[in-house]
Amino acid sequence: MSASIMIIDDSVTVREQIVSILETSQLFAHYYEAEDGLEGIKKLLSTPADVILCDLEMPRIDGFKFLSMLKVRPELQNIPVIILTGMDDRERKLKGLEQGASDYIIKPFDHEELIARVKVHLKLKILQDELKRSNDLLIKISNTDHLTGLFNRRYMMDILDKEVQRSVRKGGSLSLLMLDIDHFKRVNDGFGHLQGDVVLQKIALQLLKELRSYDYSARYGGEEFVAILPDSSLQEAILAADRIRLAVQNITFSSPLADLHLSVSIGVANFPWEKNLSIDAFIKMADDALYRAKANGRNRVEFHDPDTP
Ligand code: GH3
Ligand code: MG
Ligand code: MG
Ligand code: MG
Repeated sequence: MSASIMIIDDSVTVREQIVSILETSQLFAHYYEAEDGLEGIKKLLSTPADVILCDLEMPRIDGFKFLSMLKVRPELQNIPVIILTGMDDRERKLKGLEQGASDYIIKPFDHEELIARVKVHLKLKILQDELKRSNDLLIKISNTDHLTGLFNRRYMMDILDKEVQRSVRKGGSLSLLMLDIDHFKRVNDGFGHLQGDVVLQKIALQLLKELRSYDYSARYGGEEFVAILPDSSLQEAILAADRIRLAVQNITFSSPLADLHLSVSIGVANFPWEKNLSIDAFIKMADDALYRAKANGRNRVEFHDPDTP
């Protein structure tokens, strides 16, 4: 049990009473208190809770203002809020529910009802969190190449689409690297497919090491990789590509690959945003440059010359 609850009420007596009732239920490991909505929001932003109990009538930031402040904080939006209302507060009770409260409890509290309602909302919150975790995991799995842990081709196309749109909107300089391992068939033929996979993993790691934290690297397919470099000019991208090329050339492998000398060829293109080019055409620019790197002897970087039509 590691659940936590935030109790917001201007009366310290009410807060203490709630804590002592809920302590008998053993639902929570942590109790946080605040004396108005503002203090509540501040504390929640540094330590989010699983359930919020919130009084409606408080000086400064009251319960309604608290609910509307909560709405604009995406990280706090899924925490259930149970409002504390007086016996004859029908209007305000409805208004609170309309403004996003999940439930209400009438003061003075019926101890068992307080525990029962809090328990229901805690349970829902825990289920919701679990659902979100498995959703996030599914999304991650569906975007990831299982062998290397890099993004897969499908997700790379999504990213490229977004980055191209961003660069068109803002006029930023976007570059693309297309990378292919040289004579990779020889690795498979000489050491077997499993060792080939080890090599692919090493290359992926090296790629991550050489790129900036806001670059994207993906496995495009087989032994081909792609790197998307936002806010990079053609010259900067060529430098990055050459750094990657040298780093790969210097990778040392352990047995049975100890004698392996690996290299990559890289094609570089910079997105000509003023030309409103398609993504496929952008990829082809990098791919054609890669083809030239292969034709010109491998272990080299070639780029698409922006002055050629
Ligand atoms: P080049 O320098 O012209 O690129 O030569 P290459 O041998 O690398 O040429 P090619 O692109 O034709 O060969 C790619 C090889 O990559 C063929 C394929 O068996 C291998 N391959 C593709 N995917 C995988 C994989 O997931 N694991 C392993 N081990 N090998 C793969
Ligand atoms: Mg009050
Ligand atoms: Mg290939
Ligand atoms: Mg190859």
